Amino acid sequence: MEHFYTIQGEGYNTGRAAYFLRLGGCDVGCVWCDVKESWDAEAHPRVAIADMVAAVTSYPGRNAVITGGEPLMHDLTQLTSSLQEAGCQTWIETSGAYPLSGSWDWICVSPKKFKAPLPQVLAEAHELKVVVFNKSDFKWAEEHAAQVGENCRLYLQPEWSKAAVITPLIIDYVKANPRWQVSLQTHKYLDIP
Ligand code: SF4
Repeated sequence: MEHFYTIQGEGYNTGRAAYFLRLGGCDVGCVWCDVKESWDAEAHPRVAIADMVAAVTSYPGRNAVITGGEPLMHDLTQLTSSLQEAGCQTWIETSGAYPLSGSWDWICVSPKKFKAPLPQVLAEAHELKVVVFNKSDFKWAEEHAAQVGENCRLYLQPEWSKAAVITPLIIDYVKANPRWQVSLQTHKYLDIP
């Protein structure tokens, strides 16, 4: 759907240069989705894997973030192996709603209420990033944290439009539950893609 070189704004890899590959196609149906134009995969041109790898390797920050849409609606085996063979790190941002394919250096699962993540994807996650809309989401976050591995990093991130109200609640929650960390959408504060 689109691809661009920028700074990873959220979660564990915040602040690191990365090339984003946003794949078309998603049927998770989040009502607050800010990339609804990604939902119809057929609305976007097909791009050869070799061209994606060439685009990523044309920049010095060899971290490829595969996002969407829901990228796991596609078989990502060939794309990720080609990126790794070219010396790139492969990172994914997924709702976890589809089976994991591909070879990953970093798996970030951000669960969605509209289509639950699969237990086997949660078990593989390096990072669980829960977007918080209201107070009841802390309980929901803990339900998912109970399904990830013991080394998985746990992040609570305020939903952007409610950040002013939710961020103080997240700060209090993390102070009381320090295995969680705060994640902010720093790219939005920095006004970069
Ligand atoms: Fe939008 Fe992501 Fe939800 Fe799909 S999973 S509807 S792309 S927010």
